Amino acid sequence: MKKIIAFLIILSSFYISPAQKNEAFEEYKSMFIENLWKLYPEWATNSGYYKYNHILTIPNEAFRQNQLDFSKAGLAKLELIDFNKLSLSDKTDYYLMRDFMQSIPWQVNTQKEYEWNPSNYNVSGDFSYILYTEYAPLIDRLNTINEKLKSVPAYFEEAKKNIKNPTLEHTKLAIDQNKNSIDVFDEEILKAVEKSSLREDEKNDLYENCKKAKTAILSYVSFLEKLHNPTPRSYRLGNELYAQKFLNNIQSEYSADQIYKMALERKKYLHEQMYATTRTLWKDYFTNIAIPNDTLLANKMMIDTLSVQHVKAEDFQSSIEKHIPLLVDFINKKQLIYLDPSKPLEVRKEPAYMAGVAGASISSPGPYDKNGKTFYNVGSLEGWSDAEKESYLREYNNYILQILDIHEAIPGHYTQGIYANQSPSLIKSILGNGTMIEGWAVYSELMMIENGYGNNTPEMWLMYYKWNLRSTCNTILDIGVHTQNMSKEDAISLLTKQAFQQEAEANGKWNRVQLSSVQLCSYFTGFKEIIDLREAYKKMKGSKYSLKEFNEKFLSYGSVPVKYIKELMLNEK
Ligand code: ZN
Ligand code: ZN
Repeated sequence: MKKIIAFLIILSSFYISPAQKNEAFEEYKSMFIENLWKLYPEWATNSGYYKYNHILTIPNEAFRQNQLDFSKAGLAKLELIDFNKLSLSDKTDYYLMRDFMQSIPWQVNTQKEYEWNPSNYNVSGDFSYILYTEYAPLIDRLNTINEKLKSVPAYFEEAKKNIKNPTLEHTKLAIDQNKNSIDVFDEEILKAVEKSSLREDEKNDLYENCKKAKTAILSYVSFLEKLHNPTPRSYRLGNELYAQKFLNNIQSEYSADQIYKMALERKKYLHEQMYATTRTLWKDYFTNIAIPNDTLLANKMMIDTLSVQHVKAEDFQSSIEKHIPLLVDFINKKQLIYLDPSKPLEVRKEPAYMAGVAGASISSPGPYDKNGKTFYNVGSLEGWSDAEKESYLREYNNYILQILDIHEAIPGHYTQGIYANQSPSLIKSILGNGTMIEGWAVYSELMMIENGYGNNTPEMWLMYYKWNLRSTCNTILDIGVHTQNMSKEDAISLLTKQAFQQEAEANGKWNRVQLSSVQLCSYFTGFKEIIDLREAYKKMKGSKYSLKEFNEKFLSYGSVPVKYIKELMLNEK
Protein backbone atom coordinates (compact mmCIF):
# COMPACT_ATOMS: atom_id res chain seq x y z
CA MET A 1 0.00 0.00 0.00
CA LYS A 2 2.79 2.40 0.94
CA LYS A 3 4.37 1.66 -2.37
CA ILE A 4 1.20 2.59 -4.20
CA ILE A 5 0.88 5.89 -2.39
CA ALA A 6 4.48 6.78 -3.03
CA PHE A 7 3.99 5.93 -6.65
CA LEU A 8 0.91 8.10 -7.00
CA ILE A 9 2.77 11.01 -5.53
CA ILE A 10 5.63 10.57 -7.95
CA LEU A 11 3.22 10.39 -10.85
CA SER A 12 1.24 13.42 -9.86
CA SER A 13 4.36 15.47 -9.40
CA PHE A 14 4.99 15.07 -13.11
CA TYR A 15 1.63 16.42 -13.98
CA ILE A 16 0.18 18.84 -11.53
CA SER A 17 2.56 21.69 -11.76
CA PRO A 18 2.27 24.33 -9.04
CA ALA A 19 0.54 26.61 -11.53
CA GLN A 20 -3.22 26.09 -11.56
CA LYS A 21 -5.04 24.50 -14.43
CA ASN A 22 -5.30 26.70 -17.47
CA GLU A 23 -9.05 27.40 -17.68
CA ALA A 24 -9.08 28.40 -21.33
CA PHE A 25 -7.21 25.27 -22.33
CA GLU A 26 -9.41 23.00 -20.20
CA GLU A 27 -12.40 24.44 -22.01
CA TYR A 28 -10.75 23.99 -25.36
CA LYS A 29 -10.05 20.33 -24.64
CA SER A 30 -13.63 19.54 -23.59
CA MET A 31 -14.94 21.24 -26.72
CA PHE A 32 -12.43 19.38 -28.88
CA ILE A 33 -13.46 16.00 -27.48
CA GLU A 34 -17.18 16.67 -27.71
CA ASN A 35 -16.83 17.77 -31.35
CA LEU A 36 -14.55 14.83 -32.11
CA TRP A 37 -17.14 12.34 -30.87
CA LYS A 38 -19.94 14.05 -32.78
CA LEU A 39 -17.85 13.83 -35.92
CA TYR A 40 -16.65 10.26 -35.39
CA PRO A 41 -19.33 8.40 -33.39
CA GLU A 42 -17.86 4.97 -34.21
CA TRP A 43 -14.52 6.03 -32.78
CA ALA A 44 -16.38 7.26 -29.69
CA THR A 45 -18.04 3.87 -29.28
CA ASN A 46 -14.73 2.06 -29.52
CA SER A 47 -13.24 4.44 -26.95
CA GLY A 48 -16.01 3.64 -24.48
CA TYR A 49 -18.02 6.86 -24.98
CA TYR A 50 -21.52 5.61 -25.69
CA LYS A 51 -23.63 8.72 -26.27
CA TYR A 52 -23.57 8.38 -30.07
CA ASN A 53 -23.70 4.60 -30.39
CA HIS A 54 -26.93 4.76 -32.38
CA ILE A 55 -25.36 6.86 -35.14
CA LEU A 56 -23.76 5.37 -38.23
CA THR A 57 -21.66 7.88 -40.14
CA ILE A 58 -22.69 8.12 -43.78
CA PRO A 59 -19.43 8.54 -45.73
CA ASN A 60 -20.69 11.31 -48.03
CA GLU A 61 -19.44 14.69 -49.18
CA ALA A 62 -21.08 16.39 -46.20
CA PHE A 63 -19.09 14.18 -43.83
CA ARG A 64 -15.85 15.12 -45.58
CA GLN A 65 -16.76 18.79 -45.39
CA ASN A 66 -17.55 18.38 -41.68
CA GLN A 67 -14.07 16.99 -41.13
CA LEU A 68 -12.48 19.93 -42.92
CA ASP A 69 -14.59 22.37 -40.91
CA PHE A 70 -13.68 20.64 -37.65
CA SER A 71 -10.01 20.96 -38.54
CA LYS A 72 -10.15 24.57 -39.67
CA ALA A 73 -12.24 25.87 -36.78
CA GLY A 74 -10.34 23.82 -34.23
CA LEU A 75 -6.94 25.04 -35.39
CA ALA A 76 -8.11 28.65 -35.47
CA LYS A 77 -9.31 28.42 -31.87
CA LEU A 78 -6.15 26.63 -30.80
CA GLU A 79 -4.09 29.58 -32.01
CA LEU A 80 -5.76 31.72 -29.36
CA ILE A 81 -4.20 29.56 -26.64
CA ASP A 82 -0.94 30.87 -25.19
CA PHE A 83 1.29 27.83 -25.60
CA ASN A 84 4.06 29.12 -23.36
CA LYS A 85 1.72 29.36 -20.39
CA LEU A 86 0.77 25.68 -20.56
CA SER A 87 2.03 22.98 -18.21
CA LEU A 88 4.23 20.23 -19.64
CA SER A 89 1.32 17.81 -19.85
CA ASP A 90 -0.89 20.40 -21.55
CA LYS A 91 1.84 21.12 -24.05
CA THR A 92 1.82 17.53 -25.29
CA ASP A 93 -1.98 17.62 -25.44
CA TYR A 94 -1.68 20.77 -27.53
CA TYR A 95 0.72 19.08 -29.95
CA LEU A 96 -1.45 15.98 -30.27
CA MET A 97 -4.60 17.91 -31.11
CA ARG A 98 -2.74 20.25 -33.46
CA ASP A 99 -1.04 17.43 -35.35
CA PHE A 100 -4.29 15.50 -35.63
CA MET A 101 -6.26 18.45 -37.00
CA GLN A 102 -3.47 19.39 -39.38
CA SER A 103 -3.48 15.92 -40.92
CA ILE A 104 -7.20 16.00 -41.81
CA PRO A 105 -7.09 18.17 -44.97
CA TRP A 106 -4.31 15.99 -46.37
CA GLN A 107 -6.31 12.85 -45.71
CA VAL A 108 -9.48 14.24 -47.27
CA ASN A 109 -8.04 16.14 -50.23
CA THR A 110 -4.80 14.35 -51.10
CA GLN A 111 -4.69 10.82 -49.78
CA LYS A 112 -8.38 10.16 -50.63
CA GLU A 113 -8.40 6.66 -49.30
CA TYR A 114 -12.20 6.75 -49.33
CA GLU A 115 -11.97 6.49 -53.13
CA TRP A 116 -9.45 3.71 -53.62
CA ASN A 117 -9.79 1.52 -50.54
CA PRO A 118 -13.15 -0.32 -50.65
CA SER A 119 -12.30 -2.16 -47.40
CA ASN A 120 -12.87 1.13 -45.58
CA TYR A 121 -16.53 0.27 -45.80
CA ASN A 122 -17.53 -2.40 -43.34
CA VAL A 123 -19.94 -1.96 -40.44
CA SER A 124 -19.79 -5.32 -38.69
CA GLY A 125 -17.15 -4.33 -36.12
CA ASP A 126 -19.26 -1.48 -34.76
CA PHE A 127 -22.34 -3.68 -34.46
CA SER A 128 -20.35 -6.50 -32.83
CA TYR A 129 -18.90 -4.06 -30.33
CA ILE A 130 -22.34 -2.91 -29.20
CA LEU A 131 -23.70 -6.45 -29.22
CA TYR A 132 -20.91 -7.94 -27.12
CA THR A 133 -19.84 -5.09 -24.82
CA GLU A 134 -22.01 -5.15 -21.74
CA TYR A 135 -22.04 -1.41 -21.07
CA ALA A 136 -25.86 -1.38 -20.78
CA PRO A 137 -28.67 -3.97 -20.50
CA LEU A 138 -29.08 -6.13 -23.59
CA ILE A 139 -32.47 -4.60 -24.42
CA ASP A 140 -31.00 -1.11 -24.56
CA ARG A 141 -28.14 -2.29 -26.70
CA LEU A 142 -30.52 -4.01 -29.09
CA ASN A 143 -32.58 -0.83 -29.40
CA THR A 144 -29.39 1.05 -30.19
CA ILE A 145 -28.50 -1.57 -32.77
CA ASN A 146 -31.94 -1.26 -34.34
CA GLU A 147 -31.58 2.51 -34.65
CA LYS A 148 -28.13 2.16 -36.20
CA LEU A 149 -29.22 -0.58 -38.60
CA LYS A 150 -31.59 1.83 -40.34
CA SER A 151 -28.63 3.73 -41.81
CA VAL A 152 -26.81 0.73 -43.24
CA PRO A 153 -28.44 0.87 -46.71
CA ALA A 154 -27.63 4.58 -47.11
CA TYR A 155 -24.09 3.91 -45.89
CA PHE A 156 -23.36 1.39 -48.63
CA GLU A 157 -25.05 3.49 -51.31
CA GLU A 158 -22.58 6.29 -50.51
CA ALA A 159 -19.72 3.81 -50.41
CA LYS A 160 -20.51 2.76 -53.97
CA LYS A 161 -20.51 6.39 -55.09
CA ASN A 162 -17.12 7.01 -53.49
CA ILE A 163 -15.24 4.13 -55.10
CA LYS A 164 -13.00 5.24 -57.97
CA ASN A 165 -10.21 3.23 -59.52
CA PRO A 166 -9.54 1.13 -56.41
CA THR A 167 -6.60 -1.23 -55.97
CA LEU A 168 -7.37 -4.88 -56.73
CA GLU A 169 -5.95 -5.96 -53.38
CA HIS A 170 -8.22 -3.71 -51.31
CA THR A 171 -11.18 -4.65 -53.50
CA LYS A 172 -10.63 -8.32 -52.81
CA LEU A 173 -10.18 -7.63 -49.11
CA ALA A 174 -13.43 -5.66 -48.99
CA ILE A 175 -15.29 -8.49 -50.70
CA ASP A 176 -13.89 -11.12 -48.32
CA GLN A 177 -14.39 -9.11 -45.16
CA ASN A 178 -17.90 -7.98 -45.98
CA LYS A 179 -18.92 -11.52 -46.91
CA ASN A 180 -17.50 -12.79 -43.64
CA SER A 181 -19.37 -10.12 -41.72
CA ILE A 182 -22.80 -11.37 -42.83
CA ASP A 183 -23.01 -13.70 -39.82
CA VAL A 184 -23.38 -10.70 -37.54
CA PHE A 185 -26.60 -9.71 -39.30
CA ASP A 186 -28.20 -13.02 -40.13
CA GLU A 187 -27.19 -14.92 -37.03
CA GLU A 188 -25.52 -13.18 -34.11
CA ILE A 189 -27.88 -10.24 -33.65
CA LEU A 190 -30.91 -12.46 -34.35
CA LYS A 191 -29.87 -14.91 -31.65
CA ALA A 192 -29.57 -12.13 -29.10
CA VAL A 193 -32.95 -10.71 -30.15
CA GLU A 194 -34.60 -14.09 -29.73
CA LYS A 195 -33.25 -14.49 -26.19
CA SER A 196 -34.23 -10.94 -25.22
CA SER A 197 -37.43 -9.76 -23.59
CA LEU A 198 -38.22 -7.31 -26.39
CA ARG A 199 -41.86 -7.06 -27.48
CA GLU A 200 -42.91 -9.08 -30.49
CA ASP A 201 -43.28 -6.00 -32.75
CA GLU A 202 -39.84 -4.73 -31.65
CA LYS A 203 -38.34 -8.11 -32.45
CA ASN A 204 -39.92 -8.09 -35.90
CA ASP A 205 -38.64 -4.60 -36.54
CA LEU A 206 -35.11 -5.74 -35.71
CA TYR A 207 -35.41 -8.83 -37.92
CA GLU A 208 -36.59 -6.61 -40.77
CA ASN A 209 -33.73 -4.11 -40.34
CA CYS A 210 -31.14 -6.88 -40.11
CA LYS A 211 -32.45 -8.25 -43.39
CA LYS A 212 -32.15 -4.85 -45.06
CA ALA A 213 -28.62 -4.45 -43.73
CA LYS A 214 -27.67 -7.85 -45.06
CA THR A 215 -29.12 -6.99 -48.48
CA ALA A 216 -27.16 -3.73 -48.51
CA ILE A 217 -23.89 -5.49 -47.66
CA LEU A 218 -24.42 -8.15 -50.31
CA SER A 219 -25.29 -5.49 -52.87
CA TYR A 220 -21.99 -3.72 -52.07
CA VAL A 221 -20.15 -7.03 -52.45
CA SER A 222 -21.72 -7.69 -55.84
CA PHE A 223 -21.01 -4.07 -56.89
CA LEU A 224 -17.32 -4.70 -56.14
CA GLU A 225 -17.29 -8.07 -57.85
CA LYS A 226 -18.72 -6.56 -61.05
CA LEU A 227 -16.74 -3.32 -60.92
CA HIS A 228 -15.22 -2.34 -64.28
CA ASN A 229 -11.68 -1.45 -63.28
CA PRO A 230 -9.34 -1.91 -66.27
CA THR A 231 -6.44 0.18 -64.89
CA PRO A 232 -6.53 -0.38 -61.15
CA ARG A 233 -4.49 1.81 -58.87
CA SER A 234 -1.26 0.23 -57.61
CA TYR A 235 -1.15 -0.93 -54.00
CA ARG A 236 2.20 0.86 -53.77
CA LEU A 237 1.59 4.20 -52.13
CA GLY A 238 4.43 6.00 -53.94
CA ASN A 239 7.09 8.33 -52.58
CA GLU A 240 5.12 11.49 -52.08
CA LEU A 241 2.09 10.09 -50.28
CA TYR A 242 4.33 7.80 -48.28
CA ALA A 243 6.59 10.55 -46.96
CA GLN A 244 3.61 12.60 -45.81
CA LYS A 245 1.73 9.67 -44.30
CA PHE A 246 4.87 8.66 -42.43
CA LEU A 247 5.12 12.18 -41.03
CA ASN A 248 1.43 12.25 -40.01
CA ASN A 249 1.10 8.77 -38.56
CA ILE A 250 4.52 7.84 -37.23
CA GLN A 251 5.13 11.33 -35.80
CA SER A 252 8.83 10.73 -35.46
CA GLU A 253 11.69 13.20 -35.41
CA TYR A 254 13.19 11.00 -38.14
CA SER A 255 11.97 10.96 -41.75
CA ALA A 256 11.10 7.77 -43.63
CA ASP A 257 14.44 7.99 -45.49
CA GLN A 258 16.41 8.28 -42.27
CA ILE A 259 14.55 5.40 -40.66
CA TYR A 260 15.15 3.24 -43.73
CA LYS A 261 18.92 3.75 -43.42
CA MET A 262 18.84 3.09 -39.68
CA ALA A 263 16.92 -0.15 -40.25
CA LEU A 264 19.50 -1.33 -42.79
CA GLU A 265 22.26 -0.62 -40.28
CA ARG A 266 20.38 -2.47 -37.56
CA LYS A 267 19.92 -5.48 -39.82
CA LYS A 268 23.64 -5.60 -40.47
CA TYR A 269 24.39 -5.31 -36.75
CA LEU A 270 21.92 -8.08 -35.88
CA HIS A 271 23.37 -10.41 -38.51
CA GLU A 272 26.86 -9.88 -37.09
CA GLN A 273 25.71 -10.47 -33.53
CA MET A 274 23.84 -13.58 -34.61
CA TYR A 275 26.84 -15.08 -36.30
CA ALA A 276 29.07 -14.40 -33.32
CA THR A 277 26.48 -16.05 -31.08
CA THR A 278 26.00 -18.97 -33.44
CA ARG A 279 29.75 -19.59 -33.37
CA THR A 280 29.85 -19.83 -29.61
CA LEU A 281 26.93 -22.28 -29.66
CA TRP A 282 27.94 -24.36 -32.64
CA LYS A 283 29.87 -27.15 -30.92
CA ASP A 284 27.10 -27.72 -28.38
CA TYR A 285 24.60 -28.53 -31.12
CA PHE A 286 26.56 -29.76 -34.14
CA THR A 287 29.26 -32.27 -33.32
CA ASN A 288 30.03 -33.59 -36.79
CA ILE A 289 29.32 -30.61 -39.01
CA ALA A 290 31.69 -27.69 -39.46
CA ILE A 291 30.16 -24.24 -39.24
CA PRO A 292 29.35 -23.01 -42.80
CA ASN A 293 31.18 -20.01 -44.22
CA ASP A 294 27.84 -18.64 -45.35
CA THR A 295 26.98 -16.73 -42.18
CA LEU A 296 23.26 -16.48 -42.95
CA LEU A 297 23.11 -20.23 -43.49
CA ALA A 298 24.94 -20.88 -40.23
CA ASN A 299 22.50 -18.63 -38.37
CA LYS A 300 19.55 -20.33 -39.98
CA MET A 301 20.80 -23.81 -39.07
CA MET A 302 21.23 -22.79 -35.45
CA ILE A 303 17.82 -21.11 -35.29
CA ASP A 304 16.12 -24.14 -36.86
CA THR A 305 17.81 -26.41 -34.35
CA LEU A 306 16.72 -24.32 -31.37
CA SER A 307 13.19 -23.86 -32.72
CA VAL A 308 12.23 -27.50 -32.22
CA GLN A 309 12.03 -26.69 -28.51
CA HIS A 310 8.44 -25.61 -28.38
CA VAL A 311 5.29 -26.24 -26.36
CA LYS A 312 2.49 -28.54 -27.48
CA ALA A 313 -0.42 -26.87 -29.24
CA GLU A 314 -2.76 -27.69 -26.37
CA ASP A 315 -0.36 -26.12 -23.85
CA PHE A 316 0.06 -22.86 -25.74
CA GLN A 317 -2.27 -20.79 -23.59
CA SER A 318 -1.36 -22.39 -20.27
CA SER A 319 2.33 -21.77 -20.82
CA ILE A 320 1.58 -18.10 -21.42
CA GLU A 321 -0.37 -18.08 -18.15
CA LYS A 322 2.64 -19.57 -16.38
CA HIS A 323 5.05 -16.98 -17.80
CA ILE A 324 3.19 -13.96 -16.47
CA PRO A 325 4.06 -14.34 -12.75
CA LEU A 326 7.67 -15.16 -13.68
CA LEU A 327 7.93 -11.90 -15.58
CA VAL A 328 6.47 -9.99 -12.64
CA ASP A 329 8.93 -11.60 -10.20
CA PHE A 330 11.89 -10.87 -12.43
CA ILE A 331 10.96 -7.21 -12.83
CA ASN A 332 10.38 -6.75 -9.12
CA LYS A 333 13.61 -8.47 -8.21
CA LYS A 334 15.61 -6.40 -10.67
CA GLN A 335 13.71 -3.20 -9.91
CA LEU A 336 13.15 -2.43 -13.59
CA ILE A 337 9.80 -0.68 -13.31
CA TYR A 338 6.98 -0.42 -10.79
CA LEU A 339 4.09 -2.79 -11.56
CA ASP A 340 0.71 -2.02 -10.02
CA PRO A 341 -0.42 -5.30 -8.38
CA SER A 342 -4.02 -4.06 -8.15
CA LYS A 343 -4.47 -4.26 -11.93
CA PRO A 344 -4.11 -7.93 -12.83
CA LEU A 345 -3.90 -9.21 -16.35
CA GLU A 346 -6.31 -11.91 -17.46
CA VAL A 347 -5.13 -14.39 -20.06
CA ARG A 348 -8.07 -15.68 -22.11
CA LYS A 349 -8.85 -17.57 -25.27
CA GLU A 350 -9.44 -15.09 -28.06
CA PRO A 351 -13.18 -14.32 -28.06
CA ALA A 352 -15.06 -15.58 -31.11
CA TYR A 353 -15.91 -12.12 -32.41
CA MET A 354 -12.24 -11.21 -32.74
CA ALA A 355 -10.52 -11.98 -35.98
CA GLY A 356 -9.93 -15.67 -35.35
CA VAL A 357 -6.36 -15.34 -36.56
CA ALA A 358 -3.93 -17.17 -34.34
CA GLY A 359 -1.53 -15.05 -32.41
CA ALA A 360 -1.82 -12.83 -29.43
CA SER A 361 -3.17 -9.41 -28.67
CA ILE A 362 -3.97 -7.18 -25.74
CA SER A 363 -7.36 -5.60 -25.06
CA SER A 364 -6.77 -2.64 -22.79
CA PRO A 365 -9.51 -0.73 -21.02
CA GLY A 366 -10.40 2.43 -22.92
CA PRO A 367 -9.98 6.04 -21.77
CA TYR A 368 -13.43 6.08 -20.11
CA ASP A 369 -12.93 2.80 -18.30
CA LYS A 370 -9.65 3.24 -16.51
CA ASN A 371 -10.39 0.56 -13.95
CA GLY A 372 -11.49 -2.01 -16.50
CA LYS A 373 -9.68 -5.30 -16.94
CA THR A 374 -6.88 -5.90 -19.41
CA PHE A 375 -7.11 -9.12 -21.39
CA TYR A 376 -4.33 -11.03 -23.07
CA ASN A 377 -6.14 -12.71 -25.98
CA VAL A 378 -4.55 -15.92 -27.16
CA GLY A 379 -5.57 -17.31 -30.53
CA SER A 380 -6.36 -21.01 -30.60
CA LEU A 381 -4.80 -23.51 -32.99
CA GLU A 382 -7.95 -25.63 -33.14
CA GLY A 383 -8.72 -26.86 -36.63
CA TRP A 384 -5.18 -26.33 -37.94
CA SER A 385 -3.38 -29.06 -39.82
CA ASP A 386 -0.43 -30.71 -38.06
CA ALA A 387 2.01 -29.06 -40.45
CA GLU A 388 0.52 -25.62 -39.83
CA LYS A 389 0.63 -26.15 -36.09
CA GLU A 390 4.24 -27.32 -36.20
CA SER A 391 5.34 -24.32 -38.27
CA TYR A 392 3.55 -21.91 -35.97
CA LEU A 393 4.87 -23.53 -32.80
CA ARG A 394 8.43 -23.48 -34.13
CA GLU A 395 8.06 -19.78 -34.87
CA TYR A 396 6.77 -19.28 -31.30
CA ASN A 397 9.27 -21.67 -29.75
CA ASN A 398 10.17 -21.73 -26.05
CA TYR A 399 12.43 -18.68 -26.40
CA ILE A 400 10.28 -16.54 -28.67
CA LEU A 401 7.11 -17.28 -26.71
CA GLN A 402 8.70 -15.63 -23.66
CA ILE A 403 9.68 -12.60 -25.72
CA LEU A 404 6.15 -12.44 -27.09
CA ASP A 405 4.82 -12.33 -23.52
CA ILE A 406 7.23 -9.51 -22.72
CA HIS A 407 6.01 -7.61 -25.79
CA GLU A 408 2.27 -8.13 -25.36
CA ALA A 409 2.06 -8.20 -21.62
CA ILE A 410 4.74 -7.40 -19.05
CA PRO A 411 6.39 -4.93 -19.21
CA GLY A 412 5.17 -4.36 -22.82
CA HIS A 413 1.69 -3.35 -23.96
CA TYR A 414 -0.16 -4.26 -20.77
CA THR A 415 2.17 -2.31 -18.50
CA GLN A 416 2.30 0.64 -20.87
CA GLY A 417 -1.50 0.70 -21.01
CA ILE A 418 -1.77 0.83 -17.22
CA TYR A 419 0.62 3.77 -17.05
CA ALA A 420 -1.16 5.52 -19.92
CA ASN A 421 -4.49 5.27 -18.13
CA GLN A 422 -2.98 6.87 -15.06
CA SER A 423 -2.11 9.90 -17.09
CA PRO A 424 -4.92 12.33 -16.30
CA SER A 425 -5.21 13.42 -19.92
CA LEU A 426 -8.12 12.18 -21.96
CA ILE A 427 -6.52 13.71 -25.06
CA LYS A 428 -3.50 11.45 -24.69
CA SER A 429 -5.66 8.40 -24.20
CA ILE A 430 -7.69 9.20 -27.31
CA LEU A 431 -5.01 10.41 -29.71
CA GLY A 432 -2.46 7.85 -28.55
CA ASN A 433 0.55 7.44 -30.79
CA GLY A 434 1.01 3.91 -32.18
CA THR A 435 4.73 4.39 -32.73
CA MET A 436 5.32 5.10 -29.06
CA ILE A 437 3.09 2.17 -28.07
CA GLU A 438 4.76 -0.38 -30.35
CA GLY A 439 8.17 1.16 -29.77
CA TRP A 440 7.79 0.66 -26.03
CA ALA A 441 6.83 -2.99 -26.46
CA VAL A 442 9.84 -3.61 -28.71
CA TYR A 443 12.12 -1.65 -26.38
CA SER A 444 10.89 -3.63 -23.37
CA GLU A 445 12.06 -6.88 -25.02
CA LEU A 446 15.64 -5.64 -25.22
CA MET A 447 15.42 -4.04 -21.78
CA MET A 448 14.45 -7.38 -20.22
CA ILE A 449 17.02 -9.48 -22.07
CA GLU A 450 19.89 -7.06 -21.41
CA ASN A 451 19.03 -7.19 -17.71
CA GLY A 452 19.40 -10.93 -17.69
CA TYR A 453 15.94 -12.28 -18.44
CA GLY A 454 16.53 -15.77 -19.84
CA ASN A 455 19.79 -16.02 -17.85
CA ASN A 456 21.85 -14.32 -20.54
CA THR A 457 22.23 -17.58 -22.42
CA PRO A 458 23.50 -17.35 -26.01
CA GLU A 459 20.38 -19.25 -27.08
CA MET A 460 18.09 -16.56 -25.68
CA TRP A 461 20.18 -13.81 -27.24
CA LEU A 462 20.19 -15.50 -30.64
CA MET A 463 16.43 -15.80 -30.57
CA TYR A 464 16.09 -12.23 -29.39
CA TYR A 465 18.15 -11.07 -32.38
CA LYS A 466 15.96 -13.09 -34.68
CA TRP A 467 12.83 -11.57 -33.15
CA ASN A 468 14.25 -8.06 -33.38
CA LEU A 469 15.05 -8.67 -37.04
CA ARG A 470 11.32 -8.97 -37.57
CA SER A 471 10.52 -5.35 -36.66
CA THR A 472 13.69 -4.19 -38.40
CA CYS A 473 12.77 -5.98 -41.61
CA ASN A 474 9.12 -4.87 -41.35
CA THR A 475 10.45 -1.35 -41.84
CA ILE A 476 12.75 -2.26 -44.73
CA LEU A 477 9.91 -4.16 -46.36
CA ASP A 478 7.29 -1.43 -45.97
CA ILE A 479 9.46 1.38 -47.28
CA GLY A 480 10.91 -0.88 -50.00
CA VAL A 481 7.53 -1.99 -51.28
CA HIS A 482 5.75 1.36 -51.13
CA THR A 483 8.50 3.67 -52.33
CA GLN A 484 11.12 1.57 -54.13
CA ASN A 485 9.16 -0.96 -56.18
CA MET A 486 10.49 -3.90 -54.19
CA SER A 487 9.29 -7.07 -55.95
CA LYS A 488 7.44 -9.93 -54.29
CA GLU A 489 10.46 -12.15 -54.86
CA ASP A 490 12.81 -9.73 -53.13
CA ALA A 491 10.35 -9.24 -50.31
CA ILE A 492 9.98 -12.95 -49.62
CA SER A 493 13.72 -13.43 -49.84
CA LEU A 494 14.28 -10.58 -47.34
CA LEU A 495 11.88 -12.19 -44.87
CA THR A 496 12.88 -15.83 -45.24
CA LYS A 497 16.63 -15.63 -45.97
CA GLN A 498 17.61 -12.54 -44.04
CA ALA A 499 15.00 -12.51 -41.27
CA PHE A 500 14.77 -16.31 -40.99
CA GLN A 501 10.98 -16.44 -41.14
CA GLN A 502 8.88 -19.42 -42.10
CA GLU A 503 7.43 -19.35 -45.61
CA ALA A 504 3.85 -19.02 -44.29
CA GLU A 505 4.83 -16.12 -42.06
CA ALA A 506 6.56 -14.36 -44.96
CA ASN A 507 3.59 -14.82 -47.29
CA GLY A 508 1.27 -13.41 -44.64
CA LYS A 509 3.52 -10.38 -44.31
CA TRP A 510 3.55 -9.89 -48.08
CA ASN A 511 -0.25 -9.79 -48.06
CA ARG A 512 -0.25 -7.32 -45.21
CA VAL A 513 2.22 -4.93 -46.82
CA GLN A 514 0.04 -4.73 -49.92
CA LEU A 515 -2.96 -3.75 -47.83
CA SER A 516 -1.40 -1.36 -45.35
CA SER A 517 1.35 1.20 -45.46
CA VAL A 518 3.53 2.98 -42.90
CA GLN A 519 2.13 1.11 -39.84
CA LEU A 520 4.75 -1.65 -40.22
CA CYS A 521 7.43 1.01 -39.59
CA SER A 522 6.07 1.90 -36.16
CA TYR A 523 7.80 -0.96 -34.31
CA PHE A 524 11.35 -0.21 -35.35
CA THR A 525 10.96 3.58 -35.43
CA GLY A 526 9.58 3.76 -31.89
CA PHE A 527 12.22 1.32 -30.64
CA LYS A 528 15.05 3.32 -32.20
CA GLU A 529 13.73 6.60 -30.84
CA ILE A 530 13.38 5.21 -27.30
CA ILE A 531 16.87 3.69 -27.34
CA ASP A 532 18.30 7.01 -28.54
CA LEU A 533 16.34 8.91 -25.92
CA ARG A 534 17.54 6.59 -23.15
CA GLU A 535 21.14 7.24 -24.19
CA ALA A 536 20.62 10.99 -24.13
CA TYR A 537 18.84 10.82 -20.77
CA LYS A 538 21.64 8.73 -19.28
CA LYS A 539 24.18 11.30 -20.37
CA MET A 540 22.15 14.14 -18.95
CA LYS A 541 21.59 12.43 -15.58
CA GLY A 542 25.17 11.22 -15.19
CA SER A 543 25.67 9.40 -11.89
CA LYS A 544 22.02 10.03 -10.95
CA TYR A 545 20.70 7.92 -13.82
CA SER A 546 18.49 4.97 -12.92
CA LEU A 547 16.89 2.63 -15.44
CA LYS A 548 13.78 2.26 -13.28
CA GLU A 549 13.34 5.98 -13.09
CA PHE A 550 13.80 6.33 -16.85
CA ASN A 551 11.21 3.64 -17.59
CA GLU A 552 8.61 5.02 -15.19
CA LYS A 553 9.13 8.58 -16.21
CA PHE A 554 9.01 7.75 -19.91
CA LEU A 555 5.68 5.96 -19.52
CA SER A 556 4.19 8.61 -17.27
CA TYR A 557 3.72 10.99 -20.22
CA GLY A 558 1.15 8.64 -21.77
CA SER A 559 1.03 7.45 -25.38
CA VAL A 560 2.65 10.55 -26.81
CA PRO A 561 5.06 10.62 -29.79
CA VAL A 562 8.58 9.93 -28.53
CA LYS A 563 9.85 13.23 -29.98
CA TYR A 564 7.58 15.15 -27.60
CA ILE A 565 8.46 13.00 -24.60
CA LYS A 566 12.11 13.63 -25.49
CA GLU A 567 11.54 17.36 -25.55
CA LEU A 568 9.99 17.22 -22.08
CA MET A 569 12.38 14.72 -20.51
CA LEU A 570 15.54 16.40 -21.70
CA ASN A 571 14.40 19.90 -20.80
CA GLU A 572 13.27 19.19 -17.27
CA LYS A 573 14.40 21.63 -14.70
ZN1 ZN B 1 7.87 -29.87 -33.13
ZN1 ZN C 1 2.76 -4.83 -30.32
